[in-house]
Amino acid sequence: MEQHPYIKAAIGSGCEWSEKRIVAPIRLGGVPRAYDRQLLILGDAAGYVDPLTGEGIHTAMISGQIAANTTIEMFSKHNYSIDACRAYSLRCYDAFGFEFVYSYLAAHVIYYIPISLDAIACIGMLETNTSISSSSSSSTTSSLSLSS
Ligand SMILES: Cc1cc2nc3c(=O)[nH]c(=O)nc-3n(C[C@H](O)[C@H](O)[C@H](O)COP(=O)(O)OP(=O)(O)OC[C@H]3O[C@@H](n4cnc5c(N)ncnc54)[C@H](O)[C@@H]3O)c2cc1C
Repeated sequence: MEQHPYIKAAIGSGCEWSEKRIVAPIRLGGVPRAYDRQLLILGDAAGYVDPLTGEGIHTAMISGQIAANTTIEMFSKHNYSIDACRAYSLRCYDAFGFEFVYSYLAAHVIYYIPISLDAIACIGMLETNTSISSSSSSSTTSSLSLSS
């Protein structure tokens, strides 16, 4: 950042640099294993972030709820084994894992064939225009029938 010509030019010379922030790439689509013995990993930490949209609030909340229910179950059955923890992971997959599979595929298509995004936008525009013209034609029809 300090060396980048555009950033240097934008912030000028009187800038004081504060402590460096540590950042990391977002884990997308789930880590291969979000559990271990007496360990359940939730939300972003488990990579429960949609690979296409980057959304992860709902999956963080759902995985939190599943983890809470699984923990209650483990306490009630006095079963803290790795298999009991695996149940959490499987339930998360049932709840939103399939969404990640489709999002992952869609993200790859867009990444490798970027023009597909334009094609989707064109289809969207066509559909919007069609629905606008069909709704305006139906209103014209109704106004005609009213006046006749
Ligand atoms: C810019 C941006 C925009 C986003 N927009 C959307 C959106 O529109 N819709 C959507 O669904 N998702 C969005 N997301 C993703 C969403 O914010 C996350 O997926 C979601 O917040 C994950 O929730 P979480 O509880 O797993 O983690 P977090 O919300 O990150 O919570 C983790 C918490 O742990 C704390 N913490 C970390 N380390 C420690 C430590 N050592 N000790 C104590 N506490 C610690 C952190 O301070 C933080 O409060 C966005 C993310 C970003 C970065």
